[in-house]
Amino acid sequence: MARELLTARLESKECISEVAQCYHFVFVLDELESFLYAAGQFVSGVALDAKGKMQTRAYSLASAANGNKFELCVNRVEEGFFSNHLADLPDLPIGGTIQIHGPHGHFILHEPITDSILVATGTGVAPMRGYLQWLFPEGGPDRSNGKQIWLVYGTRHESDIYYRAEFEALAARVPNFHYLPTLSRAEKSWTGLRGHVQEHVVRIIEERAARLGEPLPELPPDPALLQSELNFDIYTYICGLNEMVSGVRERLSALGWHKKQIVFERYD
Ligand SMILES: Cc1cc2nc3c(=O)[nH]c(=O)nc-3n(C[C@H](O)[C@H](O)[C@H](O)COP(=O)(O)OP(=O)(O)OC[C@H]3O[C@@H](n4cnc5c(N)ncnc54)[C@H](O)[C@@H]3O)c2cc1C
Repeated sequence: MARELLTARLESKECISEVAQCYHFVFVLDELESFLYAAGQFVSGVALDAKGKMQTRAYSLASAANGNKFELCVNRVEEGFFSNHLADLPDLPIGGTIQIHGPHGHFILHEPITDSILVATGTGVAPMRGYLQWLFPEGGPDRSNGKQIWLVYGTRHESDIYYRAEFEALAARVPNFHYLPTLSRAEKSWTGLRGHVQEHVVRIIEERAARLGEPLPELPPDPALLQSELNFDIYTYICGLNEMVSGVRERLSALGWHKKQIVFERYD
């Protein structure tokens, strides 16, 4: 089926980590009045490569719906086609265009909102930023229902904690949002969390269960249960490369989590 292609005009481009070569982009769809999507969805970028072959790559929307604009967070991949096509869009004069179709995907928040653990590494933080903008819009209605929302963000070095200032400001503004960046190769001076995201996710779950006086489930829920009988009070949303996503899913399964409570998006 032919998809309707939209022309997205670059409005701004910012390198948010020189070391990791990560870029934040704002695009405008001039032909639309509004671009409607659910936070967490992605767009597909389309372009001809050097051999004249049409290439398509998915990119998570790094913002909540906002008029006819959308934002992306993209790492330049060495020798990669589309990530370089994006990262090389000229800054001066700004205004290059790309072709996209979408929105697509089902990596979206379950409603009504429950306690939620958002787990990301690298640019997997993009859909989480969209979720957080939707849950806690600045000057808008809080959609979190007062539920606890954790963002566990894993990366190697302090220099590649994307959007750190934004998430710290949000955590300072909103008492039920908890920001937990963790570094796997932290420098000595780092005073925050260390290690991989999995360990911190497990700790959050154990501490929450203790606080609520709930035992951790010892057995996985009966797979024969109908969707309508499932009533979860917490979900985990995971986004990043497959190795991390699988690692977190395995730890949650071992804790007795139902697979429907574990929502994930894999980038590779
Ligand atoms: C649903 C979905 C959402 C995505 N959202 C984002 C996003 O928000 N931001 C983002 O940066 N990427 C995202 N990706 C990954 C993106 O689609 C591309 O795979 C990535 O940009 C590399 O494309 P490329 O054309 O530059 O590299 P290619 O030319 O496809 O690949 C070149 C080489 O790099 C390797 N490679 C491919 N992807 C990666 C990677 N992510 N990291 C390291 N090596 C890689 C390949 O194995 C290959 O050897 C998403 C993927 C999916 C499926």
